[in-house]
Order: sequence, then C-alpha cells, then structure tokens
Amino acid sequence: MQKQEPSDILIPADYKQEFCETLWVWFEENKRALPWRETDDPYRIWISEIILQQTRVAQGFDYYVRFIGRFPDVLSLAEAEEDEVLKYWQGLGYYSRARNLHQAALTIKNQFGGKFPELHKDVLSLKGVGDYTAAAICSFAYGAPYAVVDGNVYRFLSRLLGIDDPIDSVSGKKLFSYLAQQLLDLKSPGLHNQAMMEMGAIQCVAVSPSCTQCPFANRCYAYYNACVDQLPVKMHKTKTRARYFAYFFLSKGETLYIQKRIGNDVWKNLYELPLVETDTPVDEAFLSNAEPVKKWLEGRVLPSPAYQIKHVLSHQVIHASFYELEISGEVSVEGAREIRKEELESYPVSRLIHLFLEHCHPELLDVY
Ligand code: SF4
Repeated sequence: MQKQEPSDILIPADYKQEFCETLWVWFEENKRALPWRETDDPYRIWISEIILQQTRVAQGFDYYVRFIGRFPDVLSLAEAEEDEVLKYWQGLGYYSRARNLHQAALTIKNQFGGKFPELHKDVLSLKGVGDYTAAAICSFAYGAPYAVVDGNVYRFLSRLLGIDDPIDSVSGKKLFSYLAQQLLDLKSPGLHNQAMMEMGAIQCVAVSPSCTQCPFANRCYAYYNACVDQLPVKMHKTKTRARYFAYFFLSKGETLYIQKRIGNDVWKNLYELPLVETDTPVDEAFLSNAEPVKKWLEGRVLPSPAYQIKHVLSHQVIHASFYELEISGEVSVEGAREIRKEELESYPVSRLIHLFLEHCHPELLDVY
C-alpha cells in the first residue's frame, strides 16, 4: 500500500466490467427489501438517506414509515411547525438534521415551486445536503451519474483495492470519490450505488467480515494480504468532552416546568427540564447551595437523585442526575414554562429526557 494520487490510478475497462457484473450478481442475490428501494420519489429517498445517516436500518425503518406517514411530501413537511418535525425525529439524535430537513423543505417550497429539484447543483444547494446525499438522490431518483461514497463504500473500496489513505483526510476523500466514480456503472448508476452501499453494509462489514463467502475474495487486496482489520484507516480520533447535568423535575401539583434549549449546543430547540450544568462532578451539598436550586429547595434538603445515567453522544459524554422536587406556589422558575404534566407528550425532548421519563414517569410518556 502506498500513497496514490487519483491521476496515478486508471481502472482498466475489463476490470470495471467484471467488477460491475460481480457486484450486480451479488446484489441481486443478497439485497434487502427496503421501502425506499421501491421508490424513485426524490423526497422519500432524501428522507430515508438522512435517517439512515444516523441509525441502523432496522431502527430507521420505523422512523421512516412514521415520518413519511405524517409528512408524505415536501409541502406537508414545509408547512409543519418545527416542533412537530422534531417530535417525529425524537430519539434519532442529530437534531440539526431534522431542522435542516425542515429548512430545505421550505426552500423547495419557496424557491423551486414546491417541486423537488432535479439538477445535482440545486439538490446540493439544499440545507444539510452534502455530496453523499446529493449523489444518492440524483442517482436513485433520476439515474444521474454520481457515485455515492458513504462509510460502507469507503470500507469496501479501501480493503478491495488496498488503499490506506485516511478516509477522513481531504486527499483520502478525493481519492475514494475518484475511484467510486471510475467504477460507477453508467448504465444504471442508482442500482450500482445501492449495490456498493449494500456490499459494505452486509458483506464487507466493519468487524470480522466473512471473506470466504465474498465474491471479491479472489481479487481483494486486504484478504490476500491478511490486513482486513487494518483497513480503512482513519486519521483523527474523536475527542470527547465530559459534561455534568443536574436536571430538576419540578412539580406543582398537576403541573411541571420545562424549558427550550437555545443557542448552538446539543439538542437545540428541544425541550428539557430546568438544568444546572457544571464542568466537574458536584455533590448534593454543592447543588443545594447553588442558585436557583437553593430557592427551589425552600429550606429543605436536596434528596438523592431519582435517576442517574452516563449518556454518550458522538463528541461528548453527559453525566446526568435527575432530582425530583415539589415546589410551592410561591416559587418561580425563571426561563421555564409551566405546563400540565399530560401536555409533556406534545413537546419534542432528547433521548436523555425520554430515558428519565421511561424510568421514573412512564405515565407521562408519549405515543412515539
Ligand atoms: S474479501 Fe473480505 S475484505 Fe475483501 S471485499 Fe470481501 S468481505 Fe471485504
């Protein structure tokens, strides 16, 4: 394996033909039946691709069906309130993607007359749509010749061709895109792309692929050189940040307090319980003396947390503790809104809040 420039590599025509035929035969025999494979509607393809960027197919399937059930076309999505879109996204994480979907739907309504754009450059101009999603939409829906390069394709090509350029480097991305484009079957770009992604998803999997069952084993660099577990290469290790959240479930009889998260932070525009965040772990004695907790306690002792959990996100680990307090009518909770407990189900909340409710207040859980 050595550093390579795209211009150094030429895929011979007979290699490409054999590659495409092998891939095609394998795909026909092994492809999974997925609802978004049955459509050429760019809107539905777009929704499925964004959902699948952050979840496994089994979980994504339910979200897709529910999302499409409520927002069957781009206008229904554009005309919905953002809170409702977030509610249907609840549990999937990466909520900026749901906000971007909503924004992009508004752009399609306002700038493209409500019709999903067909040109690759117009699709790429939509908020939240990058090279990968634009290639998927344009090739699946319109048969346009754009190769899709997702994590599955990186893995498959890196092992097959023995490429150790980091997949998260600029030069690596350029090289893999070039190779995927070279190998693209121009007679059927959409199906070819789906086959490439499926190959990485169910055959050339990240850990312990069944190479002896693989139709590419006889020409696979990694298998031949016993370095399957060393490819693909990544350059950056993700740094994680520890955060400490103390949430307060503040009841006043039949009501409780929630607040909307604002600012550029995780879970923007979702709702949560009143929160005290610290950079380091703190105990109940510290919290009891911190404002506004001291005010909420009204002279009482802070009870032990009703629920504690370490919640792992892609770039941060949140150590969350949930405290339950009944507060009197005299106490105000600044920045929060008072709602009836049964109304909570209509507000979009993070997976973390959902886990707390599941554990301590299942009676308040929503239907989603
Ligand atoms: S032989 Fe193994 S490593 Fe090579 S492409 Fe097939 S599954 Fe992937």
